[in-house]
Amino acid sequence: MTERKDIRGMTLPELTEDLLAMGLPKFRAGQVYSWLHQKYVHDFSDMTNLSKDLRRTLAEHYEIFDAKTVLKKVSQVDGTVKYLYEMNDGNIVETVLMKYKYGYSICVSSQIGCDMGCSFCASTIDGCARNLRASEILAQVYTAQREMGIRVSHIVLMGMGEPLLNYDHVTRFLDIITGEDGVNLSARHISLSTCGIVPRIYDLMESRPQFTLSVSLHAPNDEIRSKIMPVNKRWGVEVLLKACKDYIAVTNRRISFEYAMMSGINDSDECARELASRLKGMLCHVNLIPANEVRENDYVRSSDERLKAFSAILEKNGITTTVRRTLGPDIEASCGQLRRSHTKEATAT
Ligand code: SAH
Repeated sequence: MTERKDIRGMTLPELTEDLLAMGLPKFRAGQVYSWLHQKYVHDFSDMTNLSKDLRRTLAEHYEIFDAKTVLKKVSQVDGTVKYLYEMNDGNIVETVLMKYKYGYSICVSSQIGCDMGCSFCASTIDGCARNLRASEILAQVYTAQREMGIRVSHIVLMGMGEPLLNYDHVTRFLDIITGEDGVNLSARHISLSTCGIVPRIYDLMESRPQFTLSVSLHAPNDEIRSKIMPVNKRWGVEVLLKACKDYIAVTNRRISFEYAMMSGINDSDECARELASRLKGMLCHVNLIPANEVRENDYVRSSDERLKAFSAILEKNGITTTVRRTLGPDIEASCGQLRRSHTKEATAT
């Protein structure tokens, strides 16, 4: 059998062109698209306003890539929901749904694993198995919305993987989810987080300046950053911050710098002062994250006092700083941890 096409990864114009070529009327494409992107069905047989014949024809030509829930953990502390989803080929990805005062925010994965090798992160330990398709990133959002009976208002591309190394599928995902024939989410409510793939930051600002960029900085200088983030050896702090300044100039949008506080590594007063001097005058804010302690490494999260002192130095220098609260502390709700423990259990049995 020839490979079936990935129908949920197609834009409405692409689908329309395909169905017209099959001799179907134009409005059929709109109907099918709405089933896929507004009603989130994952089986052609559920598209009940189409004839049985047409449903069968579609199933012969197309495949719907789905995210099937294999594990769902709900935090008793704050209602955060952690999903492990199975993709059509059996791979597992992690997605986290967070409840805020303003609505639901969902943290989606862009790759199966990650190749970036950041020393503190659990997602990268086994490397990257493959990129996710646009349809598989969409499916993470759609399954959560369908099962919870909600609509998310914000999306962060901060799960497993480096989104800018899966550029084509990630931008396709962004285009489809913000399209008015689908979920129609505001681009301003979508953040993409990168460890600093500089050429792709330029591509993004030029093609899609309306999205929010988060940059995982985690250190004020090359000496520390290259030790904990191998990507820094390719694009150092200066080159990265220049790209960030250009991003702000082109898009007029504030950048968010992620900074995971690790005791004795990057959390001294001196680090804070150096960071402040580097970021001074930029339209940005720093998000301090008490580092998640991961079983596979020895990093220790900075104390609350250290976080406060660090943040005070940044604030004193005019840099807006927030300390991220830890969500879902009882359900391993971060950074590849649940997937790893799940996969390990599965291989142990
Ligand atoms: N590859 C992208 C997005 C995925 S990681 C990036 O690097 O930005 C999402 C965020 O979690 C990144 O800021 C990452 O550096 C951070 N992170 C990873 N492991 C962590 C840990 N153990 N504690 C705190 N933050 C961590």
